[in-house]
Amino acid sequence: MYIVDLHSHSNVSDGILNPDELITYAAEKKVNMLALTDHDDIAGLEIAKKKSVELGIQFINGVEISVSWRNRTIHMVGLDFDHKNKELVQGLKKIREGRVDRAKKIAYGLAMVGIPNAYDEAKKFASHQVIGRVHFAQFLVSKGYSKNVKTVFNKYMTKGKPGYVDHQWASLEDAVNWITNAGGKAVIAHPGRYDMGSKLYPQFFQEFKELGGAGIEVISGSQSLNQIDYFADYAERHELYGSVGSDFHGYGVSHRDLGPTYQLPDKVKPIWSQFLTTN
Ligand code: AMP
Ligand code: MN
Ligand code: MN
Ligand code: MN
Repeated sequence: MYIVDLHSHSNVSDGILNPDELITYAAEKKVNMLALTDHDDIAGLEIAKKKSVELGIQFINGVEISVSWRNRTIHMVGLDFDHKNKELVQGLKKIREGRVDRAKKIAYGLAMVGIPNAYDEAKKFASHQVIGRVHFAQFLVSKGYSKNVKTVFNKYMTKGKPGYVDHQWASLEDAVNWITNAGGKAVIAHPGRYDMGSKLYPQFFQEFKELGGAGIEVISGSQSLNQIDYFADYAERHELYGSVGSDFHGYGVSHRDLGPTYQLPDKVKPIWSQFLTTN
């Protein structure tokens, strides 16, 4: 069986393993094709590619871009692009700067409920430039505010809680263009997480497709397995390719392990049939 995993994280964003360790782990899990898709950063790609060549894994450039669409946060995975593309590099840098502003507001919210200095503390958990909610969660757990990252999210880091602030990310159009103009494929990450319902999903997928979007994750570690047929239908209807990704963040911290072994339904065309990378 040829194992494909097109959604994974390293400590360049909010994963546990560094890019080298992630690829070593992928080899252990017998993954044949892997994309590293850190949130809003591509700083891990060159190291991961080098290790992949060493260990015989077909490596695909990836990124998971934070997007705002109609007051919702959407995640878009970009795959198989030129990581030196200036427009893409610049766009991601701007999102990371926005993350710093958001982090300061998050810290303010936490200070208001008696948790001081959270920005500096959370920064200690971020290995690279991306600072996100997971780093705040890790800090809060380390200080005993909650027993693990999952419970701390529910208590502090989700909408309506003290450590949550609304934030304006990239537009859907910009994100698709950055990826596409860099020669890559834009894919909607874990569509099952957006809870749009049968009215909004078709509007969203149509708009995405019209902007140049290529695919959706039909199989994702961040959505339920009984949603496979539901999103396979949307992929077929909107002529979008299907993608597969674990959304692995580290052993024991993700819903599912690296290297999913579920197959795309026959009617869905795999996004990797469109890749240019052949290493
Ligand atoms: P951010 O992009 O900084 O808002 O953080 C989003 C990340 O937080 C996701 O990619 C997950 O890694 C993590 N996350 C989101 N919701 C939860 C949750 N309920 N429990 C644990 N981790 C979560
Ligand atoms: Mn994450
Ligand atoms: Mn995501
Ligand atoms: Mn992800």
